[in-house]
Order: sequence, then structure tokens, then C-alpha cells
Amino acid sequence: MTERELIALAFEAKKRSYSPYSHFQVGAALLCEDGSVYLGCNIENASYGATNCAERTAIFKAVSEGKTKFLMLAVAADELPLPCGICRQVISEFCGCEFPIIVATDSEEKRFTLGDLLPNAFTSESLN
Ligand code: ZN
Repeated sequence: MTERELIALAFEAKKRSYSPYSHFQVGAALLCEDGSVYLGCNIENASYGATNCAERTAIFKAVSEGKTKFLMLAVAADELPLPCGICRQVISEFCGCEFPIIVATDSEEKRFTLGDLLPNAFTSESLN
């Protein structure tokens, strides 16, 4: 699975976005260590707080299927979809600070590490 293929899958996932309120469609593709890929889209709710982001949808799908080791995450939208704080925290539960995150639109891509997006993360080590 190349980075390019993973980004393309994130755009495929974006098509399934359920976003009747914001109309901001987001897709995510999560590459697991075993080579499997889990897709996610944002799923909005009339009670806005119940909305789930594409990144967390992909991660929760993977974890619920027994996958917890991840290699890369791609996120796609019409505007650069920087992961929100909750998603950054959820990613940090499973991924180290070097974990690569690619955000993409049709015309632009940016690459980050989790450490770029969430420096000094609160992790399980913070509980010791
Ligand atoms: Zn989010």
C-alpha cells in the first residue's frame, strides 16, 4: 500500500460522509501494520455532540476488529482536514509521535507527524 493509494482510499471514504448539517465531507484511510486498511467518514448527528469524525471512525473500526498497530493515516476533504483535538488524542492512544498523518484536498497535501499535531500528548504514561 503506497501513500498515494492510501490517500485515494481516503477520498473514496469521503463519499460515504454523513454530513447533512455541515456539508463538510471527510474521509479517512488507516493503514494497519498487517497491511489491512480501515476506512472512515464523518458521521454527523442532529445532536451535534454525538457527531463522530472520519479519523475516529476509521480507528474505532480497526480497534473493534482487533487491530491496534497502525502505520499511516490519510484524511481527505475539500478543505485541508486537520484532525480535531479529540481525534489527535485518540490517535495518540495507539500511535507514537512519529506516526505519519497526511491531510489532502484535490489540490493540496500536507504531511505531519502526530508529534507535530499533538506535542506533549497525555498518554498512559501520564497516569503513572
Ligand atoms: Zn476529529
